[in-house]
Amino acid sequence: MTTTTTKTRTRFAPSPTGFIHLGNIRSALYPWAFARSTGGDFILRIEDTDLERSTQAAVDVILEGMAWLGLDHDEGPFYQMQRMDRYKEVLAQMQQQGLVYPCYMSVEELDALREKQMAAKQKPRYDGTWRPEPGKTLPPVPEGVKPVLRFRNPQGGVVAWDDKVKGRVEVSNEELDDLVIARPDGTPTYNFCVVVDDIDMAITHVIRGDDHVNNTPRQINIFRALGKEPPVYAHLPTVLNEQGEKMSKRHGAKPVTQYRDDGFLPDAMVNYLARLGWSHGDDEIFSRAQFIEWFNLDHLGRSAAQFDETKLRWVNAQHLKAMADDALAPLVAEQLSKRGIVADERLAAICGLFKDRCDTTVALANWAAAYYTDVTPSEEDRAQHISDAVRPAIASLAVKLSAVAWDKPAIASAIKEVLSEHGLKMPALAMPVRVLVMGTPQTPSLDAVLANFSREKIIERLKRA
Ligand code: GLU
Repeated sequence: MTTTTTKTRTRFAPSPTGFIHLGNIRSALYPWAFARSTGGDFILRIEDTDLERSTQAAVDVILEGMAWLGLDHDEGPFYQMQRMDRYKEVLAQMQQQGLVYPCYMSVEELDALREKQMAAKQKPRYDGTWRPEPGKTLPPVPEGVKPVLRFRNPQGGVVAWDDKVKGRVEVSNEELDDLVIARPDGTPTYNFCVVVDDIDMAITHVIRGDDHVNNTPRQINIFRALGKEPPVYAHLPTVLNEQGEKMSKRHGAKPVTQYRDDGFLPDAMVNYLARLGWSHGDDEIFSRAQFIEWFNLDHLGRSAAQFDETKLRWVNAQHLKAMADDALAPLVAEQLSKRGIVADERLAAICGLFKDRCDTTVALANWAAAYYTDVTPSEEDRAQHISDAVRPAIASLAVKLSAVAWDKPAIASAIKEVLSEHGLKMPALAMPVRVLVMGTPQTPSLDAVLANFSREKIIERLKRA
């Protein structure tokens, strides 16, 4: 056996028909990761031939979602609508070689044929009426009818491939009728365009959703008719939603960019999506670099993966915790700016203080907001924690804090002094102070929380006791 080293070339080929959910973007993640892990190229191709359903807005969401997740492409985006001349050129060449033939069967005739076959309990299929064969007389060409072009599918034998997910798949050619590959107006059809593109773009591995398994034997036959060997295929199982239904907008899926707006981290999303159909031992949390290092087509899952928001939040929380405060701060600043809050240099320290208790940058921004806008404790928290008994201690804390050096150790000793002067235990003072300063009694250690405020702000809030 000889081995030739070809550069890996993968592609993501979405149809921009409205909505890109997590299941769709996983179909971008795997070919991207495979290209990156093998030093190959990743190509983006927009399959926009469905003119009625394709929109530029959907293309923008695809580009935006991929950019957010860092799924960079090396070539493209190529738009199928801009490649019509090329498809027509290949069609003409195929017609010349007798690989396709015109079929004049009308819609009514096709319907009648289907009904007859169904009545005889046969699978509906084109019967080859217009397929030229040596010694066969074709029906007279009807006047004024524009034909479709049909592909001369091989007769007999099987089409087989070793799918990286499904294993060996074999389909008998008897199952496949002669596919229409050009409409009466000359426009090429879907399966044909995919093959021409995969050939022209020198795709070596097609990694896509398993809703395309049925197209694959047809596409392989077209590849071979064009004198090319098909690429390696990996058909990924569907991603189901939490209810076990196929993920879709109708079933409540969110567009991928929504997760960005909801405070998820790109690396956490990549980590989570990676595990939806692929595994590396028991590893649940990994970096982008580890994913690229580990990814291959030999550990793809065979059964449908189910989306689980709780797990996604957990994965996000792990990444958030592990992220450097300086790197986190700009992401939280972005969330704050959506609320009209301009953050400052304190934000990194604030992130460091609260990140352990957050699962998204939105949750982190909720904490950080207390540093930049006023807080209003609930009446319930006030009633529960701020009693007449503790008010004098809060007042003396305000007095002490107005005179100490403004740093964590000095604040800590001021608190201690007040506790001993008033004969209180830490929670008796800390809870009401937290309610006044942060609007909630549950926060990280009080001295650290206070130190990131200005002295004036703390005294102002303590005076509201
Ligand atoms: N455009 C197809 C889709 O969005 C993908 C085709 C392919 O990957 O071959 O489902």
